[in-house]
Amino acid sequence: MVLLHPSRFPFSLLTLSPSLSLRHYSKTTLLFQPKSTLTTTLTPSSPPPFPLDKLFIPPETKLPLDAAAARILNGSNILLSDYASDAQVLQADFVKSSVETDACPSDGLPEFALVGRSNVGKSSLLNSLVRRKKLALTSKKPGKTQCINHFRINNSWYLVDLPGYGYASAPKELRMDWEKFSKDYFLNRSTLVSVFLLIDASIPAKKIDLDYASWLGQNQIPMTLIFTKCDKRKKVKNGGKRPEENVNDFQDLIRGFFQTVPPWIMTSSVTHQGRDEILLHMAQLRNYWLKH
Ligand code: GDP
Repeated sequence: MVLLHPSRFPFSLLTLSPSLSLRHYSKTTLLFQPKSTLTTTLTPSSPPPFPLDKLFIPPETKLPLDAAAARILNGSNILLSDYASDAQVLQADFVKSSVETDACPSDGLPEFALVGRSNVGKSSLLNSLVRRKKLALTSKKPGKTQCINHFRINNSWYLVDLPGYGYASAPKELRMDWEKFSKDYFLNRSTLVSVFLLIDASIPAKKIDLDYASWLGQNQIPMTLIFTKCDKRKKVKNGGKRPEENVNDFQDLIRGFFQTVPPWIMTSSVTHQGRDEILLHMAQLRNYWLKH
């Protein structure tokens, strides 16, 4: 299936009253169960501390009439939909490194691209998602760090590791090349379901990350924000802010560039916080994409 870019992922959501807050709903029983095969520690969520207009509601998903039945993925703003099935990673294989979009696998399987500033924790997250200690080392081998690296999951979809950006020591021309190269991939890869932009939540927002996120927003590239290192709670070096505050600040700074609220998930590769939530979110985006 080949989808043209603008129709990749219509975020057609409910019209929600900004004045409504999930706090208004107490949680009781679930009206629907996610079809996920994951055995997670997900619990019916506590009311998140943000209003409904900041919730990400996947397409074709309605907030249950009894809003107490809504399932929000832990540590995120994402409502779980009926599309969230087959989330488990059973098999992960490195497939290839490509130096341009046209050289990427052409089997039409849906894919998710992981991208972020160097040192943001991208390799750690990739390994955590597939429960392998060293799979992402493949992307760190000399010659592959500037490539589009495809990992096939369960023989049915791809995780894609894109070059990290913002290397302080890299020559300017190289940095420009990476930028051009990734932008071409974002704009022309028809099987890209969503970019997963990794942001370090243990430090205040960096301009380069804000620029990256706003570019994706302005170009209407579907994006999920993955906040990394949420276990780091020490106040040194981070301006005294907790990860939750950095997460909120980042969103406030990019809001103007998005028509609808981007989904976001808080994660840690140390505690594996957010791992199951990312996989469930990928599953629901992927299954929706496959049906349309
Ligand atoms: P990459 O350059 O984006 O691939 O980043 P790495 O995965 O290599 O991680 C960079 C550094 O951050 C390493 O020292 C990791 O141990 C550390 N790191 C990565 N993820 C986390 C996390 O969730 N929590 C903490 N505390 N440290 C992390």
